[in-house]
Amino acid sequence: MVSAQIYYDHDADLALLDGKTIVFLGFGNQGAAQAQNLRDTGIPNDKIIIANRPDSYAEDAKSKGFNVEHDFSKAAEVADVVFMLVPDQVQPRIFNEIFAPKLKDNATICVASGYNVFFKLLKFKSSQDVVMVAPRMIGSSVRSLYQKGKGFPCFVSAEQDGTGNALKIALALSRGIGATKLGAIASSVYEETAMDLMAEQALWPNIIMLFREAFNVLKEAGCSDEALCYEMWMSKEPAEIFEAAADEGFVTQLKHHSTVSQYGQLSGALKLDGTAAREHFKNILHNQILNGKFTKEFSKIEDDLEKDGLANPLNQLYAKADEMELAQAEKRVRSRLADMLKQ
Ligand code: NDP
Repeated sequence: MVSAQIYYDHDADLALLDGKTIVFLGFGNQGAAQAQNLRDTGIPNDKIIIANRPDSYAEDAKSKGFNVEHDFSKAAEVADVVFMLVPDQVQPRIFNEIFAPKLKDNATICVASGYNVFFKLLKFKSSQDVVMVAPRMIGSSVRSLYQKGKGFPCFVSAEQDGTGNALKIALALSRGIGATKLGAIASSVYEETAMDLMAEQALWPNIIMLFREAFNVLKEAGCSDEALCYEMWMSKEPAEIFEAAADEGFVTQLKHHSTVSQYGQLSGALKLDGTAAREHFKNILHNQILNGKFTKEFSKIEDDLEKDGLANPLNQLYAKADEMELAQAEKRVRSRLADMLKQ
């Protein structure tokens, strides 16, 4: 049995952050939420710097009363702690080229996702602390739950202990952003990356494929686009099922369904032989994720993700996905029912 340690507010000492200058690189989903939470926890505003290019994110930070530095080198020079909260694919370039050369030897670098640290894409000095504080929530929830006095699920780890204090600082930062209120789960960049990329590259692709094929088969059997879209997702039934699974239990939530449904789901699921799926998941985990194959391929297209139109590989995938009968049917249904959907 593998069970993880859970850290609460009383495990974290905010005094470790006294006098430290804390730089948020990025003021987007996570940056805006975490910086505001940290300030509301009591870190003085003049000890927080938002490093952002001069644009709407920077304006948003200024409008919330933060000090904004557009020159990343200057922000790096004064940082005791850097929260890396720009998108994962741009972190290596900004950090390695601009931040790392100026950062103090004993600075703490805090990531919110394991990806770049696990794949060794960021270059740290061995004297620096590298920690992960990774909320399992979108930024708006990180902020709203904090404001309601609640915590949010979060992973925490110390990945490189340059000062001897890395875990303590990670816990102080977790408490500062409100993560130890509910309990921050001890994890690692390995675990976070394996689980995150497995969900993204194996679990959800299979779920999308299963919806696509179920849709096609039912359509061939004479079901209408309208009925199918509502039956399968537009009614929000799947969202409610997952919500009940989170609140009550993955299997227990089945009890809300009709007896026919419960019997059908359980007998069907238990009859399915998962061997092929297990082999597929193992293959993706070991031969695509953990061996760095996906990361290598993704790094080749990273720059193209800034491009417009079909020169952007992500837009190409969206165009291809749009060809699925499920997507075409949904478009027709949404345009036909536009007025009703607005209500
Ligand atoms: P966002 O996409 O919201 O980041 C936007 C911020 O990054 C803005 O400040 C933006 O400023 C800046 N930025 C974007 N591109 C560049 C660039 N090329 N150069 C300089 N600045 C840039 O990021 P998230 O908050 O979604 O993600 C941040 C980290 O948090 C990631 O590691 C992610 O994996 C992790 N995370 C995200 C979660 C989420 O809910 N989104 C959940 C948990 C973890 P500009 O105006 O300059 O573009």
